[in-house]
Amino acid sequence: MITLEDKTALVTGASRGIGRATAIALAAAGAHVLVHYGRSKQEAESLVAEIQRKGGHADAISADLATAEGAALLAKQVRALVGDRLDVLVLNAGISKLARIADYTVEDFDNLFATNVRGPFFLVQQLLPVLGEGSSIVAISSAVARTVVGKPGLENPSVLAYASTKGALETLVRNWAAILGPGGIRVNAVAPGVIDTDMSNFTKTEAGREVALGMQALKRIGKPEDIADVVAFLASDAARWITGASIPVDGGSKL
Ligand code: NAD
Repeated sequence: MITLEDKTALVTGASRGIGRATAIALAAAGAHVLVHYGRSKQEAESLVAEIQRKGGHADAISADLATAEGAALLAKQVRALVGDRLDVLVLNAGISKLARIADYTVEDFDNLFATNVRGPFFLVQQLLPVLGEGSSIVAISSAVARTVVGKPGLENPSVLAYASTKGALETLVRNWAAILGPGGIRVNAVAPGVIDTDMSNFTKTEAGREVALGMQALKRIGKPEDIADVVAFLASDAARWITGASIPVDGGSKL
């Protein structure tokens, strides 16, 4: 039975997509959810209101996690709201970039790593004082960390730089699990396949949907809730013996 009663949870990038569905799932399981957002104040506040209308507890907090000081700014707000205890940390905020390898710029590359790797690294560093025995960290990776999707070749658009940020994130997850395990902190990754959100805009076209469905055993496009339910499980004591794992949640992608 999944319950997060009396637990506190932070979900980064929670104003929309997978983060939003995750915030809703964690609140439905009883957690007090800190809804982090970058710029979308209105969406974050309407999510908080939605959770509260359903009898849950939530607060919205903001920081730009692509900046050098973003993680520390966010951690400061978290500590002010939860005191000395954060039970669940969901590292969800992320950006993607699809381009031919020749077209990637240094700025694209740096932005991807700043948001998808540096942000999570320093957020965990800054939140260590409030994480402890029984806390669970869940990072949203991607199937592309381990699988080549799309057509390989120099002329085709590629997610190579994005994929390498998720590979780095999974390396952090395995190492955090080893380092923090003796303190009773579990750390896992969820690796979604194609999920219907603003990020995966190719699922909005018939051709794009066909490509996505062609890669999967299950023949529908994934939804944010498909990921959120697994995150809620990993966050809960039902997953108490799972750490250092990366769980594919992708409808049987590339089987
Ligand atoms: P999305 O674009 O809807 O959501 C991304 C969230 O991250 C947004 O709330 C955005 O505001 C936030 N964010 C981005 N940069 C930020 C910054 N600098 N500071 C603060 N917040 C920032 O996309 P999504 O699909 O919901 O993505 C959520 C996570 O899932 C990402 O880590 C993404 O890489 C991963 N993922 C998505 C898919 C997919 O198919 N949609 C597949 C695999 C993995």
